[in-house]
Amino acid sequence: MNKDDINSIKTLLSTPKAIVIIPHKNPDGDAIGSSLGLYHYLKRHNHNVIIIAPNDYPDFLKWMPDEAEILKYDHKKEDCDAIIYNAELIFTLDFNSLGRIGDMETIVSQSEAIKIMIDHHQQPDDYATYTYSDVSMSSTCEMVFNFIDMLNDLDKIDSDIATCLYTGIMTDTGSFRFPSTTSTTHTIVGQLIEKGADNSEIHNQIYDTNSYARLQLLGRALSNLKVIPEYRTAYITLSQEELNAFDFKKGDTEGFVNYGLSLKGIIFAAIFIESHQDDIIKISLRSKGDFSVNELSRAHFSGGGHTNAAGGRSELSLSDTVDKFISILPQYKKDLNQE
Ligand code: 5GP
Ligand code: MN
Repeated sequence: MNKDDINSIKTLLSTPKAIVIIPHKNPDGDAIGSSLGLYHYLKRHNHNVIIIAPNDYPDFLKWMPDEAEILKYDHKKEDCDAIIYNAELIFTLDFNSLGRIGDMETIVSQSEAIKIMIDHHQQPDDYATYTYSDVSMSSTCEMVFNFIDMLNDLDKIDSDIATCLYTGIMTDTGSFRFPSTTSTTHTIVGQLIEKGADNSEIHNQIYDTNSYARLQLLGRALSNLKVIPEYRTAYITLSQEELNAFDFKKGDTEGFVNYGLSLKGIIFAAIFIESHQDDIIKISLRSKGDFSVNELSRAHFSGGGHTNAAGGRSELSLSDTVDKFISILPQYKKDLNQE
């Protein structure tokens, strides 16, 4: 995004507009945090702003300021289609390919609204009028902070905006521990705390609201953990039957994949989660160092993401998906054994 782009966007935002903000399907803390942070900022400027999420998200995100205002496309398709149709400006946040918004893809790609992408995933598609893409960023929330800064409006950040942006930076950086966390990230979260983000309370809301059943499910996931030392790889499976037995709720498996990576010597971790509802196996991949799970997921599991964190899917059965996973590891033997 260059100076001319910023000036054009400034002009656009200088009069009230009908704006829609869209996060990706199965939105996470960064997707919801960045959408709500931008929402509050644009509302302060008297725009008519509506967030439309493709579908629902976990309860641990349902406390952020004005979260209850978010529309879910899969509940109210016709209303949402009309809102998108009438939008003058659409912000797409935390994704870079319209395939990531599920059933919303058709109406959004048909819309004649000016589109602004703000995102940190690799290999962005070229659908937006203005693209602010930076894969070196910890999170889309960090980029929304920068976006507000580029518009010379840092003084407009209040405690609602700060709370939402802090949340997404915290969740996408694994509480500031992933390598994507830079000194600038810390400088920004410092400013967000000064502007009213309650860091300890936000952490509490996200991570200390477990149900007993979720911890039991984690216990099952950990007992299913398998290690393949020659490829420095660990993986977890969870069948639909196991999810049902522990009263699975959306978001309950968030973060489970990281336990594989916490094993000494392991640099590649995966979790395979059976979903009867979607009729697929949902896959999360994580790595340490240069091993790119984005590339592996794009090549074998119809997904993508970042070098060290990616998602994907498989239409095979759970056991066939695991067999496929194990069968592709030899291709990566050299990469997985590099230090
Ligand atoms: P998760 O494993 O938590 O679902 O996703 C890890 C990261 O990869 C997140 O940043 C997520 O947005 C991204 N991601 C997940 N699934 C996909 C996908 O199918 N395509 C792309 N491009 N990114 C994905
Ligand atoms: Mn993100």
